[in-house]
Amino acid sequence: MKLFTVGPVEMFDDQMNIGGQQVPYFRNDEFSKVVFDCKNNLKKLINAGEKDDVIFLTASGTAAMEATVINCFTPEDKVLIINGGTFGQRFVDICQIHRIPFVEIKLCENETLTQRHLDNIDKNGLTGLLVNIHETSTGQLYNIEMLSQYCDKNGLIFVVDAISSMFADSFDFSKYNVDAVIVSSQKALALAPGLAIVVVSQQMIEKRINVIDSHSMYLDFKEHLKNGLRGQTPFTPAVRLIYELQNRLQYLSSIGMEQQVKNTETIALDFRNKLTNIGLKYPCYPLSNAETVVLFPQLNADVVGNHLKDDYGYIINPNGGDKAKKMFRVAHIGNHTLEDNDLLIDAIKEIMNNK
Ligand SMILES: *Cc1c(COP(=O)(O)O)cnc(C)c1O
Repeated sequence: MKLFTVGPVEMFDDQMNIGGQQVPYFRNDEFSKVVFDCKNNLKKLINAGEKDDVIFLTASGTAAMEATVINCFTPEDKVLIINGGTFGQRFVDICQIHRIPFVEIKLCENETLTQRHLDNIDKNGLTGLLVNIHETSTGQLYNIEMLSQYCDKNGLIFVVDAISSMFADSFDFSKYNVDAVIVSSQKALALAPGLAIVVVSQQMIEKRINVIDSHSMYLDFKEHLKNGLRGQTPFTPAVRLIYELQNRLQYLSSIGMEQQVKNTETIALDFRNKLTNIGLKYPCYPLSNAETVVLFPQLNADVVGNHLKDDYGYIINPNGGDKAKKMFRVAHIGNHTLEDNDLLIDAIKEIMNNK
């Protein structure tokens, strides 16, 4: 079986080996050192500043999205949400539940986010912007430079959910003046699910986190930052995942962010090229390197997807609801090679020819 899904992704041997070992005790200096090592390598990889900090949550990515909203905003705020699909809608739902006022840019199917959308927004009272920089449900990668400039110009707090984009597309915490970036273990980090990470800026810590009452115990960033000073977390962390993370970040640091992004891009572009060669298409808005949305004009995406699973053991990411027949998604993150592209493309071709 091979996973071509966005998360969990096909994992590397190192992480699977760590997964098979005894989990060590963690309230000691040995474990604190591992946590510090993770923090330092992650901050360097994304170019975060010395005073910016890292929060580790034992939860899936959505908890980190919710935690960021409740620790960094209050009902006095008004945030702009880029809502281009399932994950944008999730920020909308979170703000609704926690009564954070918001406006949204709702994109239609196949619509590219542009400056015009931003210009049309009434900026009165806006204090923040929430975006899933790669909207994983559609594959669209938004222009982070454009969003960053908009935030700078209007004095907005810039929150980036980069859960499926981090380490697949280029990213720079300091250059883009990001105030919080959200990462999760089971996507491009290629670890098991269960660990979510938020990197927050010094300004976010001082002006927001330290003065806002999060009304949460488990997700209170103040406690996480305080314990983080000694390389610990307030509650039992996903200890094994932190060891998996340490190994992965050491590898990523050894090759560098740029090379990692280039490697993923090479696989993504090769796949899209081969897809075109067998007569299939993908959307024309800007795409993340993390995945390719494959369009099926004969509306048989679900049938092809099932054959891939049952006949070849290749698992792709199905789309739900009214998109189930139109498209499926193929991930390029995790343990993938150009040969995997050949295998998958050949299988798709074979299935289509046999129908
Ligand atoms: C996967 C993903 C999430 C988090 O989903 P969980 O199931 O909670 O881990 C959030 N945002 C984006 C953009 C994602 O791709």
